[in-house]
Amino acid sequence: MSKVLIIGAGGVGRVVAFKCAQNSDVFTEICMASRTESKCKEIALDVEKQLGVKIHTAQVDADHVDQLVDLFNREKPFMVINVALPYQDLTIMDACLECGVHYLDTANYEPKDEAKFEYSWQWAYKDRFKESGLTAILGCGFDPGVTSVFTAYAAKHHFDQMHYLDIVDCNGGDHGKAFATNFNPEINIREVTQKGKYWENGDWVETEPHEIRQELSYPEIGKRSSYVIYHEELESLVKNFPTIKRARFWMTFGDEYLTHLRVIQNIGMAGIEPVMFEGKEIVPLQFLKAVLPDPGSLGEKYVGETSIGCRIKGIKDGEVKRYYIYNNCKHQDAFEETGAQGVSYTTGVPAMIGAMMLITGKWTGAGVFNVEEFDPDPFMEQLMTKGLPWVELHDIDLEVQ
Ligand code: NDP
Repeated sequence: MSKVLIIGAGGVGRVVAFKCAQNSDVFTEICMASRTESKCKEIALDVEKQLGVKIHTAQVDADHVDQLVDLFNREKPFMVINVALPYQDLTIMDACLECGVHYLDTANYEPKDEAKFEYSWQWAYKDRFKESGLTAILGCGFDPGVTSVFTAYAAKHHFDQMHYLDIVDCNGGDHGKAFATNFNPEINIREVTQKGKYWENGDWVETEPHEIRQELSYPEIGKRSSYVIYHEELESLVKNFPTIKRARFWMTFGDEYLTHLRVIQNIGMAGIEPVMFEGKEIVPLQFLKAVLPDPGSLGEKYVGETSIGCRIKGIKDGEVKRYYIYNNCKHQDAFEETGAQGVSYTTGVPAMIGAMMLITGKWTGAGVFNVEEFDPDPFMEQLMTKGLPWVELHDIDLEVQ
């Protein structure tokens, strides 16, 4: 059907490549480009060995629009799946506009010099994508992504009004390392060390980092300490579902992980301002990334599973309704299938499905969209069969008060 260009050859890029290759009736041609082409070649080799599908590779520095434009003009893809870093979102969107290519990503734009998560920069492209007749799909990983589609599905099928939304994200896995992050360390540490923030009665309420904590139980995993952090999908969900009175995002962290994080912060290693080191400017967080385990290497020893879902309370037919929808994903299964751990898997599969929605015409429209603005049903169907089956529980204790 269509040619896809995957940008970024990390853990998530690996999964996207495998999943696109598994669906070669839709993704009839696949090109993978990244800053370090050897990483694309390594993935392409694994895909060819395992699935017999050829992936073409290229080198690109996606910080530069001119390099992207050259690449797009050479490859002429129908769409780009951007699984590089959030820093590259805008340059890739600019190149898409210049070359008439559709766009999809899994994380919202962040400026390098400020840990700030908001959609304003990318929403500002709405008119230009609309005028060009192009589609940009934002935040199509698991969270944001599946959690947003779960919310849209709940709104469509189970609620007349949603009032309380709690997104709960548990990684119940163990990779055997004293400290490692599950995706790009720089992006991950920026995300989890920022102040907490949630939506209540029409306003954002800010908290100190990890100030709100509660024990929550996760299916197949058990009870885990869960903390309210800010997560980008809250911004679009409260806008697109205005009946929501309170929206929060919970993530589980072990005591050991938080202790490491505290030390990293206290000694200044989470800093994003450059410092002078032996006559050279270095950014502490980027240096830290260089010495931490590569998230892509965690898969081999990873055991346990992730459990991510939405707990929603609202009104259906005049009655109070409580609803929980979630997916559990085993790290070992993800590794066996793709050579990547569960966090990369749960991000890469939805990115592939979002691209499939666009290519097969299930999701249409010119402009810039968050995933909850589309019909959730065809996406939910694909999740069931493409590796991320979901479970619904009705009228249970949601634990979140
Ligand atoms: P990695 O760090 O493993 O991979 C990032 C890849 O992007 C690397 O191959 C890197 O190249 C490449 N890259 C970085 N800068 C550039 C550039 N300027 N030009 C071209 N390529 C570049 O990250 P992950 O695979 O773990 O994560 C990928 C994305 O997925 C991130 O944006 C992350 O925020 C997002 N994500 C989203 C989640 C969700 O649920 N929505 C969950 C987890 C992640 P090189 O090898 O040269 O460094």
